[in-house]
Amino acid sequence: MTDTVLEPATGAVLAEVPWVDADAVDRAVQRAASAQPAWQATSPAHKAGVLLAIADGVRAQAEHLARLEARNVGMPIGDARGSIAGVAQTFRYYAAAPERLLGMTIPVADGVDMTFHEPLGVVGLITPWNFPMAIAAWKVAPALAAGNGIVLKPSELTPLTALELQRICLEAGLPEGLLNVVVGSGTAVGRALVNHPGVRKIAFTGSTAVGREISQRAGDQIKRVTLELGGKSASVVFADADLSAAAHGLVGGVFGNAGQDCCARSRVFVHRRVLDEFLDHLRDATTALRVGDPLDESTQMGPLISAQHRSKVTSYVNWAPVAFQGTAPDGPGFWFPPTVLHPIEDDHPCARDEIFGPVVCVLPFDSEAEVTQRVNTTPYGLSGSVWTADVARALRMARAIDAGALAVNSYSSVRVHTPFGGFKESGLGRELGPDAPLAYTETKNVFISTKNPGES
Ligand code: NDP
Repeated sequence: MTDTVLEPATGAVLAEVPWVDADAVDRAVQRAASAQPAWQATSPAHKAGVLLAIADGVRAQAEHLARLEARNVGMPIGDARGSIAGVAQTFRYYAAAPERLLGMTIPVADGVDMTFHEPLGVVGLITPWNFPMAIAAWKVAPALAAGNGIVLKPSELTPLTALELQRICLEAGLPEGLLNVVVGSGTAVGRALVNHPGVRKIAFTGSTAVGREISQRAGDQIKRVTLELGGKSASVVFADADLSAAAHGLVGGVFGNAGQDCCARSRVFVHRRVLDEFLDHLRDATTALRVGDPLDESTQMGPLISAQHRSKVTSYVNWAPVAFQGTAPDGPGFWFPPTVLHPIEDDHPCARDEIFGPVVCVLPFDSEAEVTQRVNTTPYGLSGSVWTADVARALRMARAIDAGALAVNSYSSVRVHTPFGGFKESGLGRELGPDAPLAYTETKNVFISTKNPGES
């Protein structure tokens, strides 16, 4: 069977890819389980060399991969190039990990005590459609560095770069069978992976609803999970902030990838004193945004991923107070204009739910204490920004906001070198940063007695 993959900018067929069922998951797990012990036994330097070769392979084919990602996701080509550069950087960064999986020696009585970080065995990785190759790399690279075998299930909407990653890994010298990509539906193939007793961990990125289901199923088997889930992140703009930078930065901070970004700052709290000035800047930024063909070098925002997703975004905005919108092509393709909602209450569905589209709510506030409480009134806690010239206030706010990735005077959220993940219903565990490979290991403690024979 094959799966038809669409190009969101046109709605046309982009590719046909092999489509598997739940039985194929079992075969993939068996293949990974057969290949894993030999990979575990290779030297740390060998693993490092293979990971570096994968990084080189990605870099050598970067333009091809970026164009594929741009066409399949609808991501502007400039952003896609950045995303693929991030994939190479992720493999390069974790190439250092096999030689730095350091254990401890622990002072104890009557002997020597030491710890080892053992690979889990076979791990299942489930990824979404919004940044397909980057998010796959965040999981594949540290899992390989720690010595695991892998079954990777990409979203059925965007499987193309995961299949390319599998090819590049083989060309780079990764053993046959160690990384297996299975393309199929979430409910059949994804569930089979979660339920498979040979899979020791699920690392998942996607919606909170599916993350909750995975966590429940994994719980029955005491299977390890890492969950990177949804968000409704806030940006707080104080009166002393650089208002132009805070407003124009939203082009990336909430309209980037057409808002299909778990870290999108979709609630912007602005001090009432500067609200009108901020809205003027935001109107300029929104109406000037270049929305169109993802392969056009000047494009800043592309289409939504699918007709179904556009219907969801539309149904939210139909019932909301639109202050102003940018432009979007008429079609074909799944277009939606960048949209600013104001005035709007905190408990409006658009200010409460993750819309996952280019839609931002602007909400005035009067005091630091009040805005802190309002920012935290959400079940999510992934990301956020504070805009102010007052360093003490910036730090107070950053510490008080319940979120895993905060930025001051910036909309940045993700760097390979720093831990990433959510508070509350935005997730469980962390990815990226120096500790990510540890999440694909078990810690083993070994005690060696140094007593003389016969000594009690
Ligand atoms: P989904 O949760 O629907 O899907 C994510 C992945 O899980 C896909 O590969 C999907 O397969 C698979 N899947 C679906 N149902 C199941 C199931 N029952 N068991 C196992 N796997 C399943 O999310 P989307 O792909 O729609 O992505 C958008 C969502 O992801 C947003 O809510 C967003 O916030 C969140 N997200 C979070 C990120 C983070 O880092 N916190 C980053 C990116 C996105 P298929 O699609 O093939 O059916």
